[in-house]
Amino acid sequence: MSNSSTPNTFQLIHHGAARGVTGSCHELRLGRDSLLIDCGQFQGEAAPARLAVSPARVRALLLTHAHIDHIGRLPELLSCGLNAPIYCSEATALLVPVMLTDALRHSSHDPRSAIEPVLQRLRHQLHPLPFAQWQRLPLSDGSVLYLRLQPAGHILGSAYLELRLPDGQLMVFSGDLGSGRSALLPASLSPERADFLVLESTYGDRLQPQGEPRHRQLKTVVERSLRDGGAILIPAFSIGRTQELLCDLEQILSEVSSREEQWCWRDLPVVIDSPLGADVTRLYRRFRRVWHKEAQARLQAGRHPLDFSQCVTIHDHAAHESLVHRLQQSGEPAIIVAGGGMCQGGRIVDYLKALLPDARTDLLLVGFQAQGTPGRRLQSGCRSLWLEGVEVEVQAHIHHLQGYSAHADQAGLLRFVEGMASPPAVIRLVHGEPEAQQSLAACLMKRWPQMRVELAAMMQAAQTESAG
Ligand SMILES: [Zn+2]
Repeated sequence: MSNSSTPNTFQLIHHGAARGVTGSCHELRLGRDSLLIDCGQFQGEAAPARLAVSPARVRALLLTHAHIDHIGRLPELLSCGLNAPIYCSEATALLVPVMLTDALRHSSHDPRSAIEPVLQRLRHQLHPLPFAQWQRLPLSDGSVLYLRLQPAGHILGSAYLELRLPDGQLMVFSGDLGSGRSALLPASLSPERADFLVLESTYGDRLQPQGEPRHRQLKTVVERSLRDGGAILIPAFSIGRTQELLCDLEQILSEVSSREEQWCWRDLPVVIDSPLGADVTRLYRRFRRVWHKEAQARLQAGRHPLDFSQCVTIHDHAAHESLVHRLQQSGEPAIIVAGGGMCQGGRIVDYLKALLPDARTDLLLVGFQAQGTPGRRLQSGCRSLWLEGVEVEVQAHIHHLQGYSAHADQAGLLRFVEGMASPPAVIRLVHGEPEAQQSLAACLMKRWPQMRVELAAMMQAAQTESAG
């Protein structure tokens, strides 16, 4: 393990996701130029007030995928004068304006005047690239760098980035890597090789339990929850998890056979209460050519994995409020998939405030809950919490379904490296809490004793100490 500066022709600076999983933003300095890889928002963790990037030296911004913790600071960067091209996959180029419009609508005092200039700039600066083709990026000293996107299997459009530097070195930025458990998107393939790999480590210290397919686990939890009535709340990111859940719920409905199962499932509404989730789902349907062969086969069989009759979408806010009120009064069963994956914002918060004090409610946490978020507190068994200034008692049953992680676990991360023809000389771990980085580093060094493994978490701590 090394914490020394990298004796290379480049310098790599982490403006986020060094000690945690949010705020992804990495700056690759090459002489007078910089490339930025992602510019995400912090969630839960304390964010630096200002992004310490000089837009004038940025030759290109590369986006791995459209999660807000990878793109959320783009409006800030544009308003600071970033006018470099922004490269990403074709699906990401369509998702970015949708995601940022939604984020600005919630965070801005005057959404209309905040959104339009951003969208206008994006129309000029976003350059969608096909997967698996090298793109030329000229630098200011006349040298050239090449970029290639490869599918990462994390969410629609997600990519890992291969960069061929002017000195011939091959750098790979993993972005977020998928779990390989999706029936909707195929798993990522490893790069052929890399000299320097920047690898995410969200689940660097965890192995996902093997066992039943995750839609069966979901079915078991839902059926148990239905016995005492009440709503089943599933906070889910509008992009990725919502579509994965829809796909699995459609699979469960297609398998329902016994009378008892029919009693549970036949009239059970599946409510998508997320205008953003509905918009993103439309894009998932449009890009069916990149779906996993399993989902393609379901389509061929005349099924609709993301669009089935029991699925109801709530668009306007009045309908949302009236549904929250109705469920609070009636305790009738329904599956509610609502935006706000870590329970920190979005429509899920209204359901939580109204229904967490009701013992009939079941809350299914299906994704990673970052430190400092209400989701993390609920996951750790907290029986009361503050939501939007209101103290809420928690009587609901809390379940944690691990199969829905959108990230590779420790074994998956190791497989990503093992799949290369030869292991990288250097791996720098990012996008993970310090324990996750340490645990993954230990595995990597045990497997490849010659490899240099650097931990962004340790490097940042060292930088902070010397600065302080
Ligand atoms: Zn992500």
